[in-house]
Amino acid sequence: MLPLPLVPLRRQSVFHPARLRVLILPFVTILATFTFAQSPTQPVLITADLTDVPRKLLHAEIEIPVSPGPVTLTTVKWVPGNHRPSGPIDNFTGLVVRANGNEIPWRRDDVDLHAFHIDVPQGVSKLDIHADFLAVPGNTVSSADGSTSGVQTTMEWEELLLYPAGIPVRQIPVIPSVKLPDGWKLGTALTPTSTDGDTTHFAQTTIEMLEDSPVIAGKYFREIPLAPDVTPKHYLDVAADAPEDLDLKPAMLESLSKLVNEAGAMYASRHYNTYHFLLGLSDVEEGNGLEHHQSSDNRTPEHAFSDESLAPLVGDLLPHEYTHSWNGKYRRPIGLATPDYSTPMKGNLLWVYEGMTQYLGEVLAVRSGFVTPEQFREALAYSAATLDIKPGRTWRDLEDTAVSSSILRGSSREWSNWRRGQDYYQEGALIWLDVDTTIRKLTGGKKSLNDFCALFLGKGGNTPPEVVPYDFDELVATLNQVVPNDWAAFLRERLTSTAPHAPLEGIAQAGYELTYTDKPTAFERAILGRSHAVDATFSVGLSARPDGTIADVLFNSPAFKAGLGPGEKIIAVDNRAFSGPVLALALKAAKGTTQTIDLIVENTGYFRTVRIDYHDGEKYPVLKRVDNTPDVMADILKPMTR
Ligand SMILES: [Zn+2]
Repeated sequence: MLPLPLVPLRRQSVFHPARLRVLILPFVTILATFTFAQSPTQPVLITADLTDVPRKLLHAEIEIPVSPGPVTLTTVKWVPGNHRPSGPIDNFTGLVVRANGNEIPWRRDDVDLHAFHIDVPQGVSKLDIHADFLAVPGNTVSSADGSTSGVQTTMEWEELLLYPAGIPVRQIPVIPSVKLPDGWKLGTALTPTSTDGDTTHFAQTTIEMLEDSPVIAGKYFREIPLAPDVTPKHYLDVAADAPEDLDLKPAMLESLSKLVNEAGAMYASRHYNTYHFLLGLSDVEEGNGLEHHQSSDNRTPEHAFSDESLAPLVGDLLPHEYTHSWNGKYRRPIGLATPDYSTPMKGNLLWVYEGMTQYLGEVLAVRSGFVTPEQFREALAYSAATLDIKPGRTWRDLEDTAVSSSILRGSSREWSNWRRGQDYYQEGALIWLDVDTTIRKLTGGKKSLNDFCALFLGKGGNTPPEVVPYDFDELVATLNQVVPNDWAAFLRERLTSTAPHAPLEGIAQAGYELTYTDKPTAFERAILGRSHAVDATFSVGLSARPDGTIADVLFNSPAFKAGLGPGEKIIAVDNRAFSGPVLALALKAAKGTTQTIDLIVENTGYFRTVRIDYHDGEKYPVLKRVDNTPDVMADILKPMTR
């Protein structure tokens, strides 16, 4: 298909109120007149009022040009990057519509609950609309959830946007403004044009680009230019819950600049006019990572980049979301390249959109220094083992996890090993490791996935933000351009397999083998350190919360065969009160013997004794180097730039 160009944005930078007030104000009228003449309709005007963020309340004033007669307005339903109808409509409240100063009625569509019908009276050319957004937990599992603390927010525009329905969103012009609490600053990929007190006005754009350009704002805020030698310009916009958090380590900033260079080398192109890494450091906000064309919304624990133990858990977040600017935003599966946010998205190629991004993000995290090769291998061992023992793979193939992506996000942990989750991320990554190592094998190390990325993600060279859709056939044709192979069969086999084990060929071709030891890796200790969970998944086949409540039981494992299920509570292990260390001692004691591990379990107020027949001790996954094979993984993880 032909590329679908977005309205190109001018070069943008983070807003510096004093400087821009001087530089830009004289040109505002000229710019507005120019863009207005080019636009098919009058622009929507929207002001996001963030002054009540500390009490989890956002407001919008929206002016929408209309003609008399029936009109339908809509909020965002299918959120790009969420791949789901997660527009947080449940918390979109306080809707009041006025025409010429008089309140007029609205009626919600009784099928599409994100849409509102209004009969516009004669003599009315615009609607003045007020809406509030409640930034509290919602039932849509949305990026809006936990998006505020008392001193910062990252606002995704689906929280407040309302616009005419039935028109491709790239054709609807909009002029946005943002009002901040006293003394706060903001960062965004939008182009600021002027300020008016605490309100920042931005250049006219489209609903598509606005929805693609979140705003981070905070009391403690800092904007840091990155990779000074690279054009276009890159920035880190960081908001934090405490002022000292803004003192980021020089090594972290060096890694981020290196990431900009490494991604440019690997993807052989850039498809943005500027790029802003928005980073919210908070233990109050919920973690998040959402990709955009010219920015990314990254929310991590407050000390994610100062506490060394968190590095393996957050190290690939920024590389992952940044990679999406190429893989997901610029190159987009045809089923996800919809004309508006009311049209349902089809997720069947998410093993490319997310799976390849997962792999590339993890590789780039090492190449740019966020994580070490050892941390990469430990994380890979953990995800490969989790997939390898997951029994749900025998009834549901990987492609089905992508097709049903929108019903798998936010599912309960209980029986998740039988349901499967969004495995197209991690198993997709295993498949792309397989592709990478297969290309290297077939070409004697002369070519790799780097060459595929240059062709596929760098198609068309440097461009402004555009969407270039692809399908399975183009993917296969591009792989064949790198090295001829029956790539269609290669991929189909892995996507439709219901074999009991995960595709681990990539790990073998990289010179490693998945195996188990009796001690958790630093990576797994970091996970358990955050969750405080007890993980005996790879041994007896159960995981539990610290109080003994079973989170999940692996189908067909020793714990499953003993009759255990999630939600039951382990009271005692071998007659001692339950704790993680007590369970570990019992696993050790039963190793190599014939004695069972005896649990006292409570379910719905009833107690019983359960005997687990298991004698292999504690088990935790690791990757072991295979002797006398080339260390292809070391080659994969080598930086492309100096
Ligand atoms: Zn992603």
